Amino acid sequence: SALNVSEFLREHIRTVADWPSAGVQFRDITPLLQNPQVFRVLIDAFVHHYMDPTLRPDVVAGLDARGFIIGAVVAYELNVGFVPIRKKGKLPFTTVQETYELEYGSATVELHTDAVTRGQRVLLIDDLIATGGTMIAGVKLLERLGAVVTECAVIVDLPELGGSARLKALGKPLLTLVDFE
Ligand code: AMP
Repeated sequence: SALNVSEFLREHIRTVADWPSAGVQFRDITPLLQNPQVFRVLIDAFVHHYMDPTLRPDVVAGLDARGFIIGAVVAYELNVGFVPIRKKGKLPFTTVQETYELEYGSATVELHTDAVTRGQRVLLIDDLIATGGTMIAGVKLLERLGAVVTECAVIVDLPELGGSARLKALGKPLLTLVDFE
């Protein structure tokens, strides 16, 4: 097509230098959501990919918190359910937990034990992959409950931080729409 979707979306991602801490280039996706035409291009990029009968998941899982915004809309459009993977302490029912290392300290994510069933094909969505720690923790939670993470998807890949390579090494296909060096 004449319009390159990746370049179009890139123009609507805002970079905020030194936030939340010095040296971080924060890739802010809120402008993608704010404009209805741009939001539709974003969601359709995922939906058209996962409509393919060989790729269509049984359920979409989203990572707290920006993965909820994208994941829930993609799930709705694919006519499948949505399950949230949340930061520790937010889910009321029994959970499985996964703790992973951050640059400073660690983080824990949780999933309800009845969120997915054995053998269910899951698409796992977040806004961005950096080191891959968050996405891989999500994969582990889903697989601990017997689900099959068939694909992972993000808007933004930061390839220099190594997360997309780590996922590839685990054999997980990853759809990315925009790369930033
Ligand atoms: P990681 O676990 O290192 O792959 O980090 C990915 C998670 O942290 C995602 O949930 C992102 O929303 C957030 N994140 C990490 N780095 C950035 C960044 N430079 N800009 C925006 N979000 C980020």
